[in-house]
Amino acid sequence: MDISRRSFLKVAGAGTVGLTLGQLGLDLRPVAAHAYAMKIDGAREVISICPFCSCCCNVLMHVKDGTVVNVEGDPDYPVSQGALCAKGAALLTMHVNDHRLTKPLYRAPGSAHWEEKDWDWTLARIARRLKDTRDRDFKTVNDKGQTVNRVESIFQLGTSQMDNEECAVSHQMLRGLGVVHIDHQARI
Ligand code: SF4
Repeated sequence: MDISRRSFLKVAGAGTVGLTLGQLGLDLRPVAAHAYAMKIDGAREVISICPFCSCCCNVLMHVKDGTVVNVEGDPDYPVSQGALCAKGAALLTMHVNDHRLTKPLYRAPGSAHWEEKDWDWTLARIARRLKDTRDRDFKTVNDKGQTVNRVESIFQLGTSQMDNEECAVSHQMLRGLGVVHIDHQARI
C-alpha cells in the first residue's frame, strides 16, 4: 500500500474511532494465517461434537501434548458449515481455564463466606437436603383431590455445561423424585 506519513497519521488518528489496519488497506491474511499455524502447529486434529444443545454441531479440536489448544467449527459439517454459536465458540474454556472451579464451594446459611468442601461431603449434604425436603413436601393429591404425586418446593436449573446425556439422566432422576419445576439455562 502506498501511503504518505501525513496521510498515515491522519488516518491513524481516525483509527482511534474505529478504523482497523485492515481498513487501512493492509492485507492481514498472511499474519493471521501464520498466527493460526503456530497455534495448531504439530497438533493432532480430532472431530468432536459440541455437547451444549441438540444441534450437535461438529467441532474440530486440535490437541497438542495431551491438551486441547484450539477449537473451531467444522466447515464440512452440513448444518453449521463451520459456524459455532457463542457457547460452542467458547468450548475451549471448558478445558483450559484458570478460573474454572475444581472443588465444590459451600456457603452456610447466614454466612458471607464460601468454604471449600470435598465431593463426599457435598454429595451427602445434597442428598440429605433433597430427601428431607421431599419427605416433608411430597403431595399425592392436589386441592381438588386429583392424584399428582409431586414435590413443588424443589427447583432445578440445568447448565449449558451439562451435555445432552447428562441432561437426560438428570431429568429422569428429577421426574422420578416427583420434581416438576425444571428448567435449563440454554432455554432462558
Ligand atoms: S450450542 Fe451452539 S455450537 Fe453447540 S451444538 Fe448448539 S448451536 Fe451448535
